[in-house]
Amino acid sequence: MSVSVSLEQIVSLAKRRGFVFQSSDIYGGLNGCWDYGPLGVELMNNVKEAWWRAMTYRDDIEGIDASILMHPRVWEASGHVGSFADPMIDNKTSKKRYRADLLIEDEITRLQKKGKDEDAVTLQGKLEKAAAPEDYYQIIVDNGIKDPVGGTDDWTEVRQFNLMFKTFIGPIEDSSAVVYLRPETAQGIFVNFNNVYQSSRQKVPFGIAQIGKAFRNEINTRNFLFRTREFEQMEMQWFVKPGDDEKWYEYWLEERQNWFGEYGISSEKLRVKPHPYDKLAHYAKAAMDVEYEFPFGWGEVEGIHNRTDFDLAQHAEFSNKKMEYFDQAENIRYVPYVIETSIGASRSTMMFLIDAYDEDKVGGEKRNVLRFHPKLAPYKVAIFPLIKKEGMPEFAQKLHKELQKNYKSFYDESGAIGRRYRRQDEAGTPFCVTVDGDTIEDGTVTVRDRDTTEQLRITAEGLGAWLAERV
Ligand code: ATP
Repeated sequence: MSVSVSLEQIVSLAKRRGFVFQSSDIYGGLNGCWDYGPLGVELMNNVKEAWWRAMTYRDDIEGIDASILMHPRVWEASGHVGSFADPMIDNKTSKKRYRADLLIEDEITRLQKKGKDEDAVTLQGKLEKAAAPEDYYQIIVDNGIKDPVGGTDDWTEVRQFNLMFKTFIGPIEDSSAVVYLRPETAQGIFVNFNNVYQSSRQKVPFGIAQIGKAFRNEINTRNFLFRTREFEQMEMQWFVKPGDDEKWYEYWLEERQNWFGEYGISSEKLRVKPHPYDKLAHYAKAAMDVEYEFPFGWGEVEGIHNRTDFDLAQHAEFSNKKMEYFDQAENIRYVPYVIETSIGASRSTMMFLIDAYDEDKVGGEKRNVLRFHPKLAPYKVAIFPLIKKEGMPEFAQKLHKELQKNYKSFYDESGAIGRRYRRQDEAGTPFCVTVDGDTIEDGTVTVRDRDTTEQLRITAEGLGAWLAERV
């Protein structure tokens, strides 16, 4: 991205162009849920495809697709029933509920904006040390943090709020029928460790990858697709011999950062941030966030975690089934350690959308353009007849149908050619092809590049091969 864009601009463009709509829009929307429109579903599918190819088109990673509803014991073993909770606080006057840590983070941002950098650093230090509900409460009270809505400081105590959505299996809604909507896809991988390792005959180190929906009853949804209640994750668990974990942790940290670069995210917009040792999740030995600089500040897009043997050992204990690997060469058995890479498909789709946004001038006129990597662009090509006569529409339609066998192609014959280009620029289509009078004579077409707006002339027949090299 070379211009700064606000989140409001992105949300409005996303709606206007059919990338993302508020869920249940006609009923006033449902908080924290979003629907992907015609362009959005293509973009997100392409993001998922790019990840899936990078992660599973290799010999040592297998893919799976586990069900969203799982045995409730899974979430006891994983620790989610006991500790998958956020600290929440209520304001007694406004009756608004906040995530206590985010309330403090907002205060830090406010201090920074006011130029009170020293105070902001002090508060950040306190926040990083906070762990128990009382710690958050004390910080909020000591710093006189007020309700951003009502402006008062009459707070309840801070309580832990479990983020898992509950529902019931079968017709009777009692406690024995409770199941959860999975809050992460990872557990579907752990419980299938034996199945995959035995059926695929993989040898450690190897990985299992999955893309799928996850649900969290987030207290404060915010920032468009950044924090939603229903979202999609792309996770890979890499099983290694204990002792080899640190080496593989470094390996995946580098691999995953390279992936962002391959799809055009500039390195200045990315940074990695380690989790402080005393803030690590209950299962982790080390953890690093890959963060992107969003219009609202730096935010995590992907987490790389060393989960040790925590999950497999827990599932072995709770299920009474061995979760071990037998190393034939060394004749030893062990519970593998796990390096996890966990990225939000929806959160990263928003990152790619924001990063692609640009404005420039073409022929003296301002244009909005989405400079997606061609592999991520919703439409790869658009086909235009210059005018609606002299055989041009027929030729263009035929070309479009031919390309459509392999590529998402868009046909447009309405309006001036400049307007048709603009519409495609704003959808991020990398190439526009115009069929004109010469096409009918000699079979050549004009291909116009979205980024440079330069045009070149090639044969319509060679267009498929030309595109294959670029998208
Ligand atoms: P956060 O601290 O932002 O709540 P987290 O550390 O709980 O995130 P993980 O559990 O590590 O996140 O989840 C892995 C990835 O899943 C995140 O990096 C993010 O891309 C995505 N993700 C997590 N929660 C949400 C959410 N509520 N909405 C959208 N994406 C999410």
